[in-house]
Amino acid sequence: MIDAILDKALKGERLTVEDTIALFESNEVEKMGHTANILMERMHPDPITTFVIGRNVNYTNVCDVYCRFCAFYRRPGSDEGYVLPDEVIFQKIQETIDVGGTEILMQGGTNPNLPFSYYTDLLRGIKQRFPEITMHSFSPAEIQKMVVVSDGLTLEEVVRQIHEAGLDSLPGGGAEILDDRTRRKISRLKGSWTDWMDVMKTAHKVGMNTTATMVIGLGESMEERALHLHRVRDAQDECIRNGYDSEGFLAFIPWTFQPDNTNLKLDRQTPEEYLKTVAISRITLDNIKNFQSSWVTMGPEVGKLSLQYGCNDFGSTMIEENVVSSAGATHKVNIGSILKLIRETGKIPAQRNTRYDILRVFNDENANVENDFVMQN
Ligand code: SF4
Repeated sequence: MIDAILDKALKGERLTVEDTIALFESNEVEKMGHTANILMERMHPDPITTFVIGRNVNYTNVCDVYCRFCAFYRRPGSDEGYVLPDEVIFQKIQETIDVGGTEILMQGGTNPNLPFSYYTDLLRGIKQRFPEITMHSFSPAEIQKMVVVSDGLTLEEVVRQIHEAGLDSLPGGGAEILDDRTRRKISRLKGSWTDWMDVMKTAHKVGMNTTATMVIGLGESMEERALHLHRVRDAQDECIRNGYDSEGFLAFIPWTFQPDNTNLKLDRQTPEEYLKTVAISRITLDNIKNFQSSWVTMGPEVGKLSLQYGCNDFGSTMIEENVVSSAGATHKVNIGSILKLIRETGKIPAQRNTRYDILRVFNDENANVENDFVMQN
């Protein structure tokens, strides 16, 4: 049965939800990886693995959504809550540019004390100072909070205004599992899966690209994992069908729940389960081109293996990842290590921008970046 499903995918036929569930229920991980790798190579025939140099700026840890799996947030009013001063954010962006970085992923809690003008003013201030930087920032939960604090703007108005102020694209954080049974258990206040998807569809409509994530190991069923993938595939179809000035979901990034320091007592997912999910995602999502390895959570060695299971991208250097590191994933890889790890898989490393345009190919074995470093949080 698994062979028949994989054959179908190789012939270019689309998987049904039942097919995807059958793959999740199977342990034929290597077969799935082999198929995913062939499908990846059809879309990316050059033996290149890309990465982006970027920085994650956690501008505030104040949040009123209280997700059970989150070790990062502080309640409004907490002594440990913070909002980074603008000057500190500017400094972090300058440091990122200084080492050849192109992307800033601003990500924080849904802080009820920040007005909508905080975001638009900050983005304008950033773009005035650093027109070359790509702002790939704010997850759907933060956009929803902006709608709440905007005093009457619609979701589309908020997304248009923030795009005009300087937001280039939206990261797909907070998708967790796009099904309400699991969402209600882990982050009751975060909104339904359709709320998450509405933000993404609106971003596509106004001309922004986005990415999509998926977190496994939150107590979800195999059916819910499959539905997650098919819901993302349907939204991507919709973006293409409507001919929006957007490529929709530019990339898909599955990763695993990190249970340390959280209120959810769940088992850590195995590397095999992660690699299987990467492969099934590549096989099911035939309309998404790029799949990012998640070495921040899985570690560099598994990250390297994921390049044989359908990933064509090593993600961001993610030099400041407080949300994940609070929950126990503390792998830090400097840019030199990324080049080395990619080369060890037989691929040629290449730096890309947020749109996946290649900026620099590291053809020469000895080529390295001048400012090879690991930033401290
Ligand atoms: S995951 Fe995000 S939305 Fe949920 S509590 Fe943490 S910071 Fe808030």
